[in-house]
Amino acid sequence: MHDLIVIGAGPGGYEAAAHAGELGKRVQLVEAGSLGGACLNVGCIPAKVFLRSSRLYRECTEAGPFGVRVAGASFDVPVVVERKNRIVAALKRGVEAKLKGAGVEVVIGRARLVDRHLVQVGDDRLEAENVLIATGSRPAVPPIPGIGAEHVLDSDRVFDVAEVPSSIAIIGGGYIGLELATYFREAGAEVAVFEMLPQIAANCDREVSAKLLQALQRSGIEFHLSCRVLSVEEGVLRYDDGSGTERTHAAERILNATGRAPVVAGLGLDEVGIDFSLAGVRISDRGETSVPGLWACGDVTGRHMLAHAATREGIVAVNSMFGIPDRIRYEAIPAVIYTHPEVAMAGRTEAELTRAGIPFRKATVPMGVAGRFLIENEGGSGFVKVLVGARGGEILGVHAVGDSSSEFIVAASALIETALTARQAAEVVFPHPTVSEALREAILKVG
Ligand code: FAD
Repeated sequence: MHDLIVIGAGPGGYEAAAHAGELGKRVQLVEAGSLGGACLNVGCIPAKVFLRSSRLYRECTEAGPFGVRVAGASFDVPVVVERKNRIVAALKRGVEAKLKGAGVEVVIGRARLVDRHLVQVGDDRLEAENVLIATGSRPAVPPIPGIGAEHVLDSDRVFDVAEVPSSIAIIGGGYIGLELATYFREAGAEVAVFEMLPQIAANCDREVSAKLLQALQRSGIEFHLSCRVLSVEEGVLRYDDGSGTERTHAAERILNATGRAPVVAGLGLDEVGIDFSLAGVRISDRGETSVPGLWACGDVTGRHMLAHAATREGIVAVNSMFGIPDRIRYEAIPAVIYTHPEVAMAGRTEAELTRAGIPFRKATVPMGVAGRFLIENEGGSGFVKVLVGARGGEILGVHAVGDSSSEFIVAASALIETALTARQAAEVVFPHPTVSEALREAILKVG
């Protein structure tokens, strides 16, 4: 009997398996697809490879103010796809090496729970004291006629498309839709985004979301907000523009970016009596499901649906199952949208604090207070907002829009995780010149 079977080798599952292996436990990791999960194969990494190339291409065409003239720049998608494949392969070798180093046995196949200690993979039955469900998520398919058709792209298939379409309509203005809209626009396509809500990136701070919308519109992306897509046919999208008027929009390609759905089907969850719904497997903050010995982490729980959250949840679950005290502070988990400009956040938004009845103070400073931001971003703009408790001054939230914010948001997470006040945080020395100095200025201003 093993100590642990992990189902799913995404950033939740493989990191948890490696951690348990490093603790000296006997671990099996079952994967039906490819090591690294959605994040490595069709998510975080491919998206950022694509965005790196599209940004470089745009920068070539906008390098004049930096004193650099680039003539004849062109965008070669097959080379971008090939580079993506190379980077994914290199990172996958890293995952393999990590698992091997930790003594984890990798089993290739589709797993199904038979009971709380037994997992069926093909003809084999695996047995363990604990099972960690880390089966992740897949692209959601909302009930819109035609959206599941072969010609409609989703995030699983978009990274293998070897050309830039002349035009693309993207259904969904969440982070996946927005990152892909940025890529396609910079790569030269006409891009239109259709979003049901009145704002894009709905989980963000309102002002951040408005600023992002303005910047993306300025880059040439067309937005249709508060609208409902009614049906999709090849090359045509039919939608209600929010006023009850039905309209059509023609585009060479259509992309479904309406979010992700936890993978809960075909796993035997009903049979073992776990509390779950289509929204995910319910877990405690230690990763326990409703059935003792069965644990879950990552996208399958439908909680945070980010790679680094999946990893932390997996490690907390492993520590908890083997009696090592640990807990996750959800409020400190950072999130980034890798659009151009980037958005980064940690902690709570003004709306969340207001809903919770928590009094707060805030300060906002433009990114341009940091010399490095002006150096790096000719004509760019953005801001950092810091929210602190009205009385104690403890840092409750940091929200930023502007390039390089992805690189300093971890500092904000650390301040929230360690419950520092703005006054204490003001003693931290920020390196000069870095864009992070905008965060320092906001901390000083909020006092
Ligand atoms: P997954 O990565 O989905 O892995 C689950 C694994 O389980 C898969 O490999 C699957 O094959 C396997 N599996 C499923 N069922 C079974 C079974 N029955 N038996 C065996 N194996 C099974 N997150 C970020 O934090 N930052 C980003 O920048 C970011 N960008 C993204 C961009 C895109 C386009 C997309 C689509 C997602 C992005 N995400 C990002 C989200 C991130 O990919 C997920 O949050 C992360 O992959 C979740 O990890 P996981 O381990 O829970 O599941």
